Amino acid sequence: MSSITVPPPKCLQKTFVAPRRHMFGPGPSNVPPRILAAGAEPIIGHMHPEMLEIMSDIKSGIQYAFQTQNNMTIAVSGTGHTAMECAIFNAVEPGEGVLTAVNGIWGERAAEMAERIGARVNSIVTTAGGYFTSEEIDRALAKHKPVLFFLTHGESSTGVVHPLDGIGDICHKHNCLFLVDCVASMGGAPLHMDKQGIDILYSGSQKVLNAPPGTAPISFSERACQKVFNRKTKPVSFFLDMTWLANYWGCDGKPARIYHHTAPVSAFYSLRESLAILAEQYVKYIADCHMLYCKTKPSDPLKHSFFHMLPTVTTIVAPPGYDWKEITSYIMKNHNLEISGGLGPSVGQVLRVGLMGGNSSKASVDMVLEALRDALRYCHKSKV
Ligand code: PMP
Repeated sequence: MSSITVPPPKCLQKTFVAPRRHMFGPGPSNVPPRILAAGAEPIIGHMHPEMLEIMSDIKSGIQYAFQTQNNMTIAVSGTGHTAMECAIFNAVEPGEGVLTAVNGIWGERAAEMAERIGARVNSIVTTAGGYFTSEEIDRALAKHKPVLFFLTHGESSTGVVHPLDGIGDICHKHNCLFLVDCVASMGGAPLHMDKQGIDILYSGSQKVLNAPPGTAPISFSERACQKVFNRKTKPVSFFLDMTWLANYWGCDGKPARIYHHTAPVSAFYSLRESLAILAEQYVKYIADCHMLYCKTKPSDPLKHSFFHMLPTVTTIVAPPGYDWKEITSYIMKNHNLEISGGLGPSVGQVLRVGLMGGNSSKASVDMVLEALRDALRYCHKSKV
């Protein structure tokens, strides 16, 4: 019974060597040697004591990055979307109300996830580049009475950093949990989970953290835990059930850890190292981040004010008459450098440049500007 009918694929006989690129799009960012080396350490078991210690270190690192004392702080095995679903699936039961703030694609995606689990979803919507005032949020919460309000701190599709101060209090006045997406902003724009009254906060590994994609920090406040752990129904996802994950991460106070899934061991090594670097560099990262915007401000098509400009992902426009795809392809081909076009409502309007974590240096800013100047010299300009 050993007759093989499908032959071994020829393509797998070639060794793969990843190209060396400047990853200056909205993510993933370049992974520095120190983090790559951590990820190349030998595999140990996902329940070995050393691994449990690494998970505990990761928890401390996330508490620092989020500025929180929350005990219920873990990393989800998956990307930012996984953490997004973890937040919504655990905090909301079918039939309950969710309000999402839409000023780019992330509020739309959160609404879709909540709809899929049978929530009653409403959204407040503003233009690409826009943000919401506290009064608008207060009015919408009073009208729709949701159990959860979703807001994106760093809207990477439109380049907006949303103000957070005071919104937690407004949510709590309406007996609503405040859920914030900081995938694109954490470590690049100031963020204080506890002080800002954020109930659930999640991020991703591949942006400012400069770790490989595939792990996602998430934290739940005491108020959020009250809701999450007193549900009438089980969350739709076994994999993302916080009752299981809380035990797996040693957050539930129980003496024994029960196997839930095989943690991505190497990814956790890398995440731990990236959090160690963030702990060393946090203040510098925050200070350095606005550099590109300061140099490109005159060509911002979405007309952000400086205070709402996302420091990690800068949206800039090519002069009219150029095709943005030709510019990004030219820069990739001739400068080995990734920048990207718009996403969702900003498609066709902007180029997005992400300088995150270790990538946010003056040298990278100069490299991007030189590549853009070069592209504008050589790319086709239409006559119309
Ligand atoms: N939220 C925001 C603000 C993002 O920028 C991203 C990634 N571009 C995500 C969520 C989703 O993260 P991932 O691609 O890691 O699933």
